[in-house]
Amino acid sequence: MNHIFGPVNSRRLGRSLGIDLLPRKVCNLNCIYCEVGATTQLTCERKEYIPTTAIIAEITEFCADPERLNRVDVVTVTASGEPTLHSGLGRIITALKTMTGKPVAVLTNGTTLMREDVVAELSLADVVIPSLDTARPASFRKLNRPATCLDLQEIIEGLVHFSKVFTKELWLEILFAQGINDSDEEVQALVAVIRRMTLSRVQLNTVARPPLESFALPVGEQRLKEIADLISSGPDAPRVDILTSGSSATDKVNPVDSGRFPGGATNREETLEKIIEMLKRRPCTAADIDRTCQMGGPEKVEQFLEPLVRSGQLKKQSHGDKLYYQ
Ligand code: SF4
Repeated sequence: MNHIFGPVNSRRLGRSLGIDLLPRKVCNLNCIYCEVGATTQLTCERKEYIPTTAIIAEITEFCADPERLNRVDVVTVTASGEPTLHSGLGRIITALKTMTGKPVAVLTNGTTLMREDVVAELSLADVVIPSLDTARPASFRKLNRPATCLDLQEIIEGLVHFSKVFTKELWLEILFAQGINDSDEEVQALVAVIRRMTLSRVQLNTVARPPLESFALPVGEQRLKEIADLISSGPDAPRVDILTSGSSATDKVNPVDSGRFPGGATNREETLEKIIEMLKRRPCTAADIDRTCQMGGPEKVEQFLEPLVRSGQLKKQSHGDKLYYQ
């Protein structure tokens, strides 16, 4: 399996090369809005789900081509699940920093920061982007559907502690789902946690791509703006960004191996392989696919994929005002 993908243009991070640390959907949450699909292994166990040496070997191979490396602004450690569950995280971040010379960002669901080993390993990164969607246990169960080993208060204390000891960029991401965590009471509980944290910024998100559960509904832009105002008011409040168009933790990197297909594939099979790799991980619009595969516009992508849709190999699903391939 290839564990390196991209780079793709990320509005938040620039040209981002992704490192996927897990072989399948291993997570300690099973969020109703997940774009990756249902969690196949709901666990809190931290171990080497993929040999660390195999991932480092891929990084070494990627770095052997300086041209490829030049197209990368940042390396993003992520996973088809929760990357901090991989016990080789620290070694991988160290290898990435040494071999690429690029800043390293880590996306995490923020649930393992009560662990000193995770704190020490994440401290090696330049940017850490944890999530916290709610500070209320009932909503946490409803929205994030945690493994039984997780306790929300412990998670919050871990996040607060990490924010005090981590000296680099810390961006907290909050995803709001209509009717679950978007009420004033919910926001006030989150604000109380945010006030205890030292954050570089807070990023607000909502359900945008086809979610795991159809009852995961987006929150309107007006409500997101009101929430942003609540969070950003008061002295020492962090900067708050609203991530529109559904950019999220998993949005920053699409799993396409640009190492094998630099500058956009010209071969039909290669292009198809790239697209299928993208769609295996998350639903994408024609515009998403075109951004990575450079096929000459979303219409060209649609033409290219139409036979696969007709034959039933791909599905088209509308969500919001967009059409997604799955
Ligand atoms: S959204 Fe992230 S944390 Fe939630 S189930 Fe999916 S991979 Fe796990």
